[in-house]
Amino acid sequence: MAKDPKAFLKISRKDSPYRPVEERIKDYKEVAVLKGIAETEQQARRCMDCGTPFCHWACPIGNYIPEWNDFLKDSNEAEAFVLLNATNNLPEVTGRVCPALCESGCVLGVNDDPVTIRENELSIIEYAFEKGLVKPQKPKKRTGKKIAVIGSGPAGLACAAQLNKAGHSVVVYERDDEIGGLIRYGIPDFKLKKGVLDRRIEVWKKEGIKFETEHNIGEDVKVEGLLKKFDAIVLAGGAKQPRDLSSTPGRGLKGIYFAMEYLSQRNREVAGKEITGEKIDAKGRDVVVIGGGDTGSDCVGSANRQGARQVIQIEVLPKPPQERPEDQPWPVYPRLLKTTSSHKEGCERMWSVLTKEFVGDDAGRVKVLRCVKVEWEKGPDGRWNMKEIAGSEFEIKAGLVLLAIGFIGPEKSRLLNDLNVKLDSRGNVETDENYQTSVEKVFAAGDMRRGQSLVVWAISEGRRAAYAVDRYLMGESVLPKI
Ligand SMILES: Cc1cc2nc3c(=O)[nH]c(=O)nc-3n(C[C@H](O)[C@H](O)[C@H](O)COP(=O)(O)OP(=O)(O)OC[C@H]3O[C@@H](n4cnc5c(N)ncnc54)[C@H](O)[C@@H]3O)c2cc1C
Ligand code: SF4
Repeated sequence: MAKDPKAFLKISRKDSPYRPVEERIKDYKEVAVLKGIAETEQQARRCMDCGTPFCHWACPIGNYIPEWNDFLKDSNEAEAFVLLNATNNLPEVTGRVCPALCESGCVLGVNDDPVTIRENELSIIEYAFEKGLVKPQKPKKRTGKKIAVIGSGPAGLACAAQLNKAGHSVVVYERDDEIGGLIRYGIPDFKLKKGVLDRRIEVWKKEGIKFETEHNIGEDVKVEGLLKKFDAIVLAGGAKQPRDLSSTPGRGLKGIYFAMEYLSQRNREVAGKEITGEKIDAKGRDVVVIGGGDTGSDCVGSANRQGARQVIQIEVLPKPPQERPEDQPWPVYPRLLKTTSSHKEGCERMWSVLTKEFVGDDAGRVKVLRCVKVEWEKGPDGRWNMKEIAGSEFEIKAGLVLLAIGFIGPEKSRLLNDLNVKLDSRGNVETDENYQTSVEKVFAAGDMRRGQSLVVWAISEGRRAAYAVDRYLMGESVLPKI
């Protein structure tokens, strides 16, 4: 189809629909409905094919966005897939859960709605799987080099896929019973169905990557043995150490859990697995989620599906703006108010709220949160200071409290201890610009290196680390730098 340079003036942005709330709230199936390919082709026509595509710059893996949109508009999904495959090892995951940093940089977004880049990405890869275009590609020859990747989240997986492509023999070690890290046991099924992950892992297995689950490196397998056996090791163990409210009175009461304790149970349950230990149940309870971010939103969606009586989400920071503020101009990714599909399923949200105390009942279970409203003022040093508003104290009824207030870095496990790798000032594994840690032949990538982040950043880190490892082992690399 000839390019219509004015298509963006004639075609409006159309997002994929969600299943109706009353239907989706009863199950854990994905809430978003995949767009038909004809609709995607139409949306791709809105891309202006800019000379300087800021979307490409804003995407941490440098996806060739205008180029695939060009192929899409011509119904050439096969070529669009070749381009997507060149930069992204898990487009079926980013296509579902990426916050689309690219769309904030879309030039059309300056004065109109940006192109539906994330959804276009998803349509390409789902079309490719459906039509059998995703085929295992075994490397033509093996280098004889052996690499251990520790951790099977998106960073470890992208790294392993790239290193295998370069002909190295890769073993991915995972302490959990399934591959995937937070995309397996963190992100709920209603955002990302796990069959998507299993489908990709089957391709990688056929390409020659070995996966060893239930191997906790440092505990079940000693690091000295691994250092002897492998030519290089990549640490991709994530950053799952949760931030706590340990100094808040009443924190020790029953019924207060970290978000990840709750979410991983839910994902295991949906996968039909047995839950070990006490089951965290929101059914019939007043649930309070502390933390206004994405992890908190995933708790909201899960608690509603479990049959919570009511769900309240509180956040200590002020309510973000709905439009770009002046200090966050295009094309930066702005911090705006985000209303997710989970919020729309039933949730009261409050901002500028500080939890002062958890109060329990006679059985030692949390029943009330004592809170106070706060305001934020910029000090002379430019830093924001929090001030409690006198007389604004109030209480929230709570039968279950979920702490979703972020992560403070990698768990300080025997893996890091026995390796004796240097940590940076934030407690993450320190590396040089070549992703190399303070220990010879040990590299690091993903959340373990940069702190809790995003899937697309984990993939980017995994790919960059793979390039660095390949160069370290072979003197030069056949892999792309990202
Ligand atoms: C609830 C939740 C929802 C999220 N939602 C989104 C979203 O919608 N979009 C988005 O872009 N990002 C999201 N994120 C962030 C994203 O999931 C992470 O940034 C990403 O998964 C990090 O990838 P990773 O590979 O570095 O680490 P992880 O995914 O954390 O994987 C690390 C793996 O290493 C394993 N491991 C650790 N130590 C050892 C050891 N000693 N031996 C063997 N294995 C080990 C762990 O078991 C884990 O499986 C979310 C995060 C959370 C917590
Ligand atoms: S991975 Fe994320 S930032 Fe990159 S093109 Fe896809 S949606 Fe955009």
